[in-house]
Amino acid sequence: MTKVKDSIIASTMAKPEPTKPALSLKRKTFGLCLACSAWVGLLPWVFLESQRSDFGLFDLSIQAITGLLLIIPLASWLCSVLITGSIRTDLFALTQIAKSFSEGQYSHRFKSTGVAEIDQLSKSLNDMATLVDERDRYIRRTAYKDQLTGLHNRAYLIFTLRERISHAKEPLSLATWSIDNLENINEVLGYDFADQVLKTAAKKAQRIAKNSLVSARLEGNVFSILLPRSIFDRISKTIDLRRLLIGELKISGHFLDLECHAGIAHFPEHGENPESLLRRAEIARQIAKKTHNPMVVFEEAFEQRSTKRLALIGELKKAIVQNEFELYLQPKMSVRSGKVTQAEVLIRWRHPERGMIQPNAFIPLAEQTGLIKNITLWLFEQVYAITPDFNSGNVQLSVNISALDLEDNTLLKWVERKHKYQPQIAGNITIEVTESSTMRDPDQACELLQGFANMGFKIAIDDFGSGYSSLAYLKRFPVTELKIDRSLVQGIDIDSDARVILQSTIEMGHVMGLLVTAEGVETDAEYQLIHELGADFLQGYWLSKPLPMQTFKEAYLFEPYDHTTQPA
Ligand code: C2E
Ligand code: CA
Ligand code: CA
Repeated sequence: MTKVKDSIIASTMAKPEPTKPALSLKRKTFGLCLACSAWVGLLPWVFLESQRSDFGLFDLSIQAITGLLLIIPLASWLCSVLITGSIRTDLFALTQIAKSFSEGQYSHRFKSTGVAEIDQLSKSLNDMATLVDERDRYIRRTAYKDQLTGLHNRAYLIFTLRERISHAKEPLSLATWSIDNLENINEVLGYDFADQVLKTAAKKAQRIAKNSLVSARLEGNVFSILLPRSIFDRISKTIDLRRLLIGELKISGHFLDLECHAGIAHFPEHGENPESLLRRAEIARQIAKKTHNPMVVFEEAFEQRSTKRLALIGELKKAIVQNEFELYLQPKMSVRSGKVTQAEVLIRWRHPERGMIQPNAFIPLAEQTGLIKNITLWLFEQVYAITPDFNSGNVQLSVNISALDLEDNTLLKWVERKHKYQPQIAGNITIEVTESSTMRDPDQACELLQGFANMGFKIAIDDFGSGYSSLAYLKRFPVTELKIDRSLVQGIDIDSDARVILQSTIEMGHVMGLLVTAEGVETDAEYQLIHELGADFLQGYWLSKPLPMQTFKEAYLFEPYDHTTQPA
């Protein structure tokens, strides 16, 4: 770099080569003065000649002198105007070219003007432009390359996009695509093999989009191709692009299926600068991944969704600090006695502007961002505070925890500390976990749940039957209750197969020594069948929707009544 800089300085100081002899400004001015002096020098001679003349030269000389006296200043003025005018034009042209250099356009060269000083300056500028141009090319060749695949990198993609957008103004298509099973390949076959996959995939992309303007690797498993729209339209109509996304790769004799997803953004429809185009192609890629589509073209609605999501994440963080969550309670009834002896605690978010937000709209987001751990701690703090009140009204509480709460022992440690001071609480609380949340790391989940069970907490398996369900698998956990998902309960009065499935699930639960709760009971007919099939508890809109805490207390703690005769 310093070498390049030194040579630029040296070139700006270099003497001009003697090509076409150029007049210096000094010489030009000198010439003009000489001409004027010659004219002035003639005056005495004309005057003397007129004195000696016999044939009326005197009259002539008077006229000539008067004429000359007028012409000389006029000629001098004209010359100076011409000289300064031509210098100004040259300097203006020079400034324009210098400006274009500063904007990164090094192709212009300044032509000789015939004025030595200006030619010298323009030659220095021309030399500097040649060197900076060479340096630019060198930097582009090295700093804009991805070392592993030999493709260009993100910086080069942005650079080219900016150039294309500001100069050519042709319609473009930007595709970003990712190999989404690369992590698995890493884990199973190792890093070296995964590197081979990246290199081979890069080559394949270059082959398929051989007329692309840029093929780049943006990061780890994410690539990008920039194409003129006409080429994109052509290859997206054929199977070429799809071959890149769904095809298989042959590496070291092995055939490997790649799971790729691509997002497309078009210029100018989807963005007028490189950053927004790239961001929108990325949003489309994420949607492709989520919807298991090989390729998705950006739509305005995607962005609204993702900006709303981002805003919600920020607000969710604040909600914890600003205490915007509320507890709702849904009663659970003993099928045999018809009494409400339990209640499930369900969270709500009272958003200052958006109003009440239901858990399905923010719990998944809290789980994706890890914020759920803070929410669960907040929840346990509240439940510890209200449990004594509910116990005195003979109602026990159950709380939901998420898969992330089973990934480390933060919650367990927190509860253990609390347990030291309020050991009577644990026996009155049931912790609900879904089967899938125990599957990420079953050993760890088992150990943590055992820790809670040791303190006296009861453990319920939630939403049983909603996905892959195995009672044999669940036997290893210290479970005391099975909550059957509402998808297995609803419609049992009209679908006899569904009834048989529910019956065997209840029976299996009992065989394993578990209490069985039927969730989502909505109709009288469903209630009747649940009663006949022998479930221990029921929960559902037939009995009551989740209620604000105060309403629940008024309905069930102070005046408990029999629901088998008075459904809510
Ligand atoms: P879940 O644990 O299965 O909770 C029961 C959900 O089913 C509740 O929805 C409840 O309103 C709804 N439900 C109850 N009976 C009926 C019925 O008869 N018909 C129908 N259609 N729905 C019924 P909610 O309160 O919207 O909660 C949805 C989910 O959000 C919960 O499902 C739970 O997975 C999660 N959730 C709620 N509160 C918390 C919480 O404090 N922590 C965690 N981690 N998750 C929570
Ligand atoms: Ca639940
Ligand atoms: Ca449930």
